[in-house]
Amino acid sequence: AAKGSGRNGFCFFSSEMRAASEEKHALATDLKRAMAQGEFEVHYQPRLRARDLVPVGAEALVRWRHPARGLVPPGQFIALCEEIGLIGELGRFVLGEALRQQGEWREAGYRISMSVNISLRELCDPDFAQEVAVALAASGCRGPELELELTETLFLDDSAPVRANMELLRAMGVRISIDDFGTGYSNFARLHEMSVDCIKIDRSFVRALPKNRALTEAVISMARLMKARIVVEGIETEEQAAWVRRFDCDEIQGFLFGRPIPPAEFIAGLQISKTTPEEELRRIIFG
Ligand code: C2E
Ligand code: MG
Ligand code: MG
Ligand code: MG
Repeated sequence: AAKGSGRNGFCFFSSEMRAASEEKHALATDLKRAMAQGEFEVHYQPRLRARDLVPVGAEALVRWRHPARGLVPPGQFIALCEEIGLIGELGRFVLGEALRQQGEWREAGYRISMSVNISLRELCDPDFAQEVAVALAASGCRGPELELELTETLFLDDSAPVRANMELLRAMGVRISIDDFGTGYSNFARLHEMSVDCIKIDRSFVRALPKNRALTEAVISMARLMKARIVVEGIETEEQAAWVRRFDCDEIQGFLFGRPIPPAEFIAGLQISKTTPEEELRRIIFG
């Protein structure tokens, strides 16, 4: 800990620091309670095939249905869950729920690939891959129908448990994707020699279009060198969509095509896109 300005070298908390720490403690207590009471739910955001706008995938995104605060986004609790050791349980819930949901969609006639976000803490757990195997078996989903989204730094972690988990996951056919690509401090040489199924170009690139189109194209070509499928995320406007569709990408994702929504709404969207011709889909999506 840093040395405080106190005379004896003690570190005195300022009142703001104390307030923040108390708030964090209260949130941690609330999170444990929420876990016990089952207040977490999973929403799904569609991933569309760029070529014809057909929904081919869903990204599972956790939310906290708080009795007083309403729907709380993951940015407000994931980091703390990691810190207090709750991420394993939360991750198991999300994975189990997402695969169960995928099974339901399959029963209804929709083959939707499922993407689930994974934290470093989860991948460091020596039992992680085995738990994934159990969740797959319980839901009747095959390995290749599941995709785990990892960030660049996580992908490059080569500690023994992470390597062992990755090997097992690959053996099961589970797909691995790099999330938020282009925002980390990637060791491109290493990334290049590792095999990855999918790369998600971070939405900061889309936000800066068309000003940064040369950079975005360069990042996409670099991703292509890794022989991965390319997803561009964070498309919010038709103008951005038009730009992105000039690039060489396989899938697109963003608020323009669909926000993360509860499963009942998601399947309604699948039904609409199934019965709607492509031209009309374009009109619905692009206005
Ligand atoms: P992510 O994996 O990069 O997910 C994309 C985030 O961008 C989601 O925010 C999504 O709602 C949002 N997004 C999608 N399209 C657009 C768009 O067009 N514009 C804008 N502005 N945003 C868009 P969300 O749901 O708040 O999740 C934030 C992050 O929390 C995720 O980033 C992911 O890193 C993490 N997360 C979410 N669910 C889980 C989970 O179950 N486990 C773990 N470990 N992390 C999760
Ligand atoms: Mg993600
Ligand atoms: Mg992302
Ligand atoms: Mg992220």
